[in-house]
Amino acid sequence: MLLRLRPNASRSDLDAVLGLARELGYETRFLDTARQVLEATRPDGMGAPADRSRFEDMSCVSQVLDASGAPELVSRPQPEPTRVELGDGPQASFGAGTVSVIGGPCAVEDEQRLAQVAAAVRDAGGAVLRGGAFKPRTSPYSFQGLGHEGLERLARVRAQVGVPVVTEVRDPREVERVGEVADMFQIGSRSMTNFALLREVGRARKPVLLKRGFAATAREFLLAAEYILSAGNDKVVLCERGIRGFDSVTRNVLDLGTVAWLKRSTHLPVMVDPSHAAGRADLVRPLARAAIAAGADGLIVEVHPDPSEVHSDGAQALPLDEFARLVEDVRALVRLDGRRLVAPRTELSEPRLSDVGPEMESVA
Ligand code: PEP
Ligand code: MN
Repeated sequence: MLLRLRPNASRSDLDAVLGLARELGYETRFLDTARQVLEATRPDGMGAPADRSRFEDMSCVSQVLDASGAPELVSRPQPEPTRVELGDGPQASFGAGTVSVIGGPCAVEDEQRLAQVAAAVRDAGGAVLRGGAFKPRTSPYSFQGLGHEGLERLARVRAQVGVPVVTEVRDPREVERVGEVADMFQIGSRSMTNFALLREVGRARKPVLLKRGFAATAREFLLAAEYILSAGNDKVVLCERGIRGFDSVTRNVLDLGTVAWLKRSTHLPVMVDPSHAAGRADLVRPLARAAIAAGADGLIVEVHPDPSEVHSDGAQALPLDEFARLVEDVRALVRLDGRRLVAPRTELSEPRLSDVGPEMESVA
């Protein structure tokens, strides 16, 4: 069970809770740095039903939750929205009034091409390079990515161009190796319920971009994030990438209603992937604009100058000049609601912090 403690709990209150837990045979650990959420588990997995009310009776315990309760660590009431940052500066920032755009090819392929796309993404105001070395393909016969060779190419381009990278990890055994290159782990839509993987990236303590399963409910999505947070990592950015619908004019149905709902229901940043939602390049820009207007804290967009060269998702790849236009849209839209676009190359042209109000001043 999870015990939510009152923020003003004193040292002796805490000692009393921990003492009772010990007496009843529970092992405890705090799940947050503020020491307000305490997990209590028994090695035998069982606890007497009456234990719950013993904890509820303690004045410093505001709530006791069991597995059937709401997802706890991802939910508001945490008063402040979480911000997830990458790189020094930071180079990219998602949430709490900041927005960044990720761009790059679906998969890591030709290295020179990747370097060219990375530089174009950075120069256009993108903040992070994307590109999968391990590709989660529906068919085992489709291109699976270049694997470790892809990671090495990505590492060299990252160093050469100076942008942080996000790349997918599919297997819990690869988390350490992928983490040597990635500034942010991507968990793909097909892996959203790979609980061993979620726990492993939770232990890695590096930012995680968690994509919604294409047939997952919003609650299942939040519970997947809860796995990562409960393993000790609260640097999670949720990503809506379209859910399966009955129509094939778009590859998926971009669920912006859920984006707006998530912004109310969780303190975690929420990002949108318009590329996998649309499945075709000409619809990416309008979906991107709608996503930012709905409150998204970032975008991840597939970019490539020549779709005929690539082995996956060429039809939805945005040409470089259109990516630049999309970033300009984002810059204009986020200003409308007092937010700030964060990218390595655009800080100089951003409004000074003093121009965007008190909320932004605390951002610096
Ligand atoms: C991708 O980002 O290339 C990808 C495979 O996305 P998803 O997991 O959302 O299908
Ligand atoms: Mn793709």
